[in-house]
Amino acid sequence: MKYISLKDRNYTVDFEQAVVMGQAPERGLFYPAHIPAHNQEFLQNLKSFSREEVAFRVLQPFVAPSLSDDELRRIVSETVNFDFPLRQIHDRVFTLELFHGPTMAFKDVGARFMSRCLRYFLRNAGRKVTVLVATSGDTGGAVADAFYEVEGVDVVILYPKGKVSELQELQLTTYGGNVRALAVEGDFDACQALVKQAFAHEALSKRLGLTSANSINVARWLSQQVYYYFALQQWPLAQPPVVSVPSGNFGNICAGMVAWKRGLPVQKFVAACNENDAFAAYVTTGIFAARPAVATVSNAMDVGDPSNFLRVLEVFDNRYGDLKDQVVSFGFSSAETLEALRQVFREKGYLMDPHGAVGYLALRKYLEEEPGTAGLFLETAHPAKFEDAVRKATGSDVEMPEAMRELARKKKHMDTIRPQFDDLVEALG
Ligand SMILES: *Cc1c(COP(=O)(O)O)cnc(C)c1O
Repeated sequence: MKYISLKDRNYTVDFEQAVVMGQAPERGLFYPAHIPAHNQEFLQNLKSFSREEVAFRVLQPFVAPSLSDDELRRIVSETVNFDFPLRQIHDRVFTLELFHGPTMAFKDVGARFMSRCLRYFLRNAGRKVTVLVATSGDTGGAVADAFYEVEGVDVVILYPKGKVSELQELQLTTYGGNVRALAVEGDFDACQALVKQAFAHEALSKRLGLTSANSINVARWLSQQVYYYFALQQWPLAQPPVVSVPSGNFGNICAGMVAWKRGLPVQKFVAACNENDAFAAYVTTGIFAARPAVATVSNAMDVGDPSNFLRVLEVFDNRYGDLKDQVVSFGFSSAETLEALRQVFREKGYLMDPHGAVGYLALRKYLEEEPGTAGLFLETAHPAKFEDAVRKATGSDVEMPEAMRELARKKKHMDTIRPQFDDLVEALG
């Protein structure tokens, strides 16, 4: 597969270059030069394939020839080796649980896939890269876990000191080895500003081989397609599902749209937003206006200017009418989110996390408007990761999974820096 830059369509690279570079010049987004259609036989027999086989067939056209079939099979076997169960909540409402990976967030799949691709591409290079990420909580943990002990890669994670949950801090600071945590005396925006400054600093960037691990990277973005196939493998009804995706940077939902474009049957995509709903306004009006992010209980979705927005438009060939036929979007407040969480727990005995709860709300709203439809929402994190919000909504404690209790017994290691570029440079050594 060739990838073009959405800033300059004549600029093309292969999968390896796209993964190693992260983004094209002038911060262009890489996008597949074409979207390969599935043959009908694959889709008709979806239920008969193993998870690994599905992931292999879905991703193969996007990575060849940079990855051989054997190498892709090896990587996939380390990427989707946990469960992705579909559970029923109401008659017409299901959820696909994406939180059974090592850090209990759906980002595990993309981060693991990307780390293994990088490891392979750097195997003979005799050089190191440094993955530099700013995190408001969830991304950092998934990246730390995925890149831990990956040869040739150092990881530096910046997080706002005192502003991530205890569990999240444990996930960032207890690996050690090639994973370093820097607690920044500032907020998430300050962390992100430092990372941007580092990338813009040519000498530093070159010396450390800086690269990012967010959903801008095609390895992280496109590997998320597999969730939608896993959902269809388990979907029990004859009619195609409406699929609701809790969205922040729109990487996950955009991967689903790519799968749909290749032929996967999806009735409608529901882009579920919290109060940061610039995209919902776009779907209604056709005009997009980025806004500053506001803080909510579903904080991994607190994004005012989604970084994958242009990719979403590209899936629909930049035709607003086509997008509007296939996509709806709604925004919900934190109060509505916590109320939904409480209600579903009380009435159905199912505990959602605040991100999943936004997905649930958006799905319900669509199904009410369109009687006769049925759908699923993606549950993107384990409720224990957002213990405070869940306790506030339900009044009860969340049972900690064993892996998390183990984490609490480990020792945290981090260096603290002021939100100043000099401090970061010194810390990077
Ligand atoms: C990152 C994240 C999201 C948003 O995913 P995008 O691909 O950025 O839209 C939703 N829920 C959780 C729990 C997340 O960590």
